[in-house]
Amino acid sequence: MSIAPFATHEVFNQTPPVGDMNLWADDMALQGAVRAFGKPAKEIEASLAAFGKRWGSFAMAENARLANENPPKLKTYDAKGFRADVVEFHPAYHSLMHQAVADGIHSSVWAADGKFVPGEFVARAARHYMAAEVEQGHECPITMTHAATGALLAEPSLMKEWLPRIRSREYDSAFKPASEKKGVTLGMGMTEKQGGSDVRANTTRAEPDGDGYRITGHKWFFSAPMCDAFLVLAQAKGGLTCFLMPRFSPDGSVNALRLRRLKDKLGNRSNASSEVEFESAYARRCGAEGEGVKTIIGMVQLTRLDCVTGSLGIMRGALLQAIHHARHRTVFQKKLIDQPLMRAVLSDLALEREGALALGLRLASAFEHGESDSNEAAFARLVTPAAKLWVCKATPGFVYEALECLGGNGYVEEGPLARLYREAPLNAIWEGSGNIMGLDLLRGVGREQEGAERVLAKLAKDTAGLPGAREAVTHIQKGFTDPDREILARRTSETLSLLAAAAALAVSAPPVIAEAFAAHRLAGLAGRNYGDPIGGPLADVLIDRAFAEAA
Ligand SMILES: Cc1cc2nc3c(=O)[nH]c(=O)nc-3n(C[C@H](O)[C@H](O)[C@H](O)COP(=O)(O)OP(=O)(O)OC[C@H]3O[C@@H](n4cnc5c(N)ncnc54)[C@H](O)[C@@H]3O)c2cc1C
Repeated sequence: MSIAPFATHEVFNQTPPVGDMNLWADDMALQGAVRAFGKPAKEIEASLAAFGKRWGSFAMAENARLANENPPKLKTYDAKGFRADVVEFHPAYHSLMHQAVADGIHSSVWAADGKFVPGEFVARAARHYMAAEVEQGHECPITMTHAATGALLAEPSLMKEWLPRIRSREYDSAFKPASEKKGVTLGMGMTEKQGGSDVRANTTRAEPDGDGYRITGHKWFFSAPMCDAFLVLAQAKGGLTCFLMPRFSPDGSVNALRLRRLKDKLGNRSNASSEVEFESAYARRCGAEGEGVKTIIGMVQLTRLDCVTGSLGIMRGALLQAIHHARHRTVFQKKLIDQPLMRAVLSDLALEREGALALGLRLASAFEHGESDSNEAAFARLVTPAAKLWVCKATPGFVYEALECLGGNGYVEEGPLARLYREAPLNAIWEGSGNIMGLDLLRGVGREQEGAERVLAKLAKDTAGLPGAREAVTHIQKGFTDPDREILARRTSETLSLLAAAAALAVSAPPVIAEAFAAHRLAGLAGRNYGDPIGGPLADVLIDRAFAEAA
């Protein structure tokens, strides 16, 4: 007996799945920025293209979905009542970690001698950005491993012991001492209940014990607690000090890190963010006693850059979905992409992303060249907090607008937009929230006034003739020196970012894009919704550079 199909309607005009993509090949703005600011080498481009294909596959998108739909679970005790303090992750999370480590996002900038691998910084930033288009939670331990190495430089004996493990391209999720593992990951604990921005208020204590210290206290946010070691700040006799706390003690027993809870978070669900107490946990000093802030800044600056590239990835992940939808959805007898007002929205989003991306990769190149060039070091010092403030804070509004481009389909959990939307605010919060970034810019200016003047003079030169650039320079100068500069700090940071973005675009993108960015961002109105009137061929250029259709 056959059963007649029961169909009330035909399904049509729904967008096809994006499917397999190449996150390098279909992102022309990315290619321009890497060519402009990275080492222009064919082999790097070939490796980025292979990376883009790997990470743009449907299988990776599925890993991202599954890792977030099946968040990690804390096992405080084992079945017999012994303390376990372990977190279990879904296999999809391990797949993402495995691929990120194999691709070196956690360590590729570090040479065996602890210096930067020449030409690798921008390529690695591009990889971090592409991976962030796919999934952000796993990037927490990946970034931390990359960045913590910057703090380990303060303690050569730790560097000697840990760098070879960090540089391994094998992801080893086994819960055992680092010395027995094929590869390691690192996390960090600074934030306590009474304060995160003001780390000097930390109450966690450190007492010397043999070759190390015993740490007692707590951390209120302690992400990726299955890492093999953590940079931890604690009060020693000489003041706030940085320590490296391994997950296992030297005798092979589990170190006394007691995981109390996992946070129930807005987003970033694939990543476990714990609350932890240290019950006389073993740790080794990293840097001198009392120099905890100075030491850990070696890590913090690198993570701030990753906050920028991570947010850029979120923007791009959302933008490509919006463009894809608009290319396939018909409304009022026309494809959405051919509706003038939707084109204005999409091209305005694309313009924002162009500027932010060029700025992010320009900044990555300053990190690398800052090792030997004081102007680049000054650029990195000033522009890092400014760019973190602007790019990370722009991301939620950006994703929201991209989400709305999909209409109701943007708001449901089956698509990636809802996850990207929940993820979007995080990079602005951690590693120094918005106000802290504004204040940090002023601190940088105060400490290196001459360097700041040189950075601004160079930006003025690089943007000469672009609309609004001269006024922006004046605005920034006032923001650096005004008696009320503290309350101007957000505006100053944003304007500095926009100016630096225009300067970066002048190098990495066709002149028409740098011109448009300056016209719509420096000379244009600030604090409004997307949809600046961009039309004609410029809209085509912007949209195609954001997501090349033929790829
Ligand atoms: C998902 C997640 C994971 C995290 N993982 C980790 C981790 O692994 N390790 C870790 O150490 N931390 C972690 N954090 C903590 C994070 O770094 C802190 O939340 C952040 O630094 C802010 O600190 P706070 O929460 O104590 O806020 P506060 O320091 O209390 O700041 C609150 C607000 O006040 C503003 N503010 C502070 N000082 C000033 C001032 N002088 N003037 C004007 N405004 C000011 C800040 O910008 C912020 O907006 C994580 C946070 C989240 C959300």
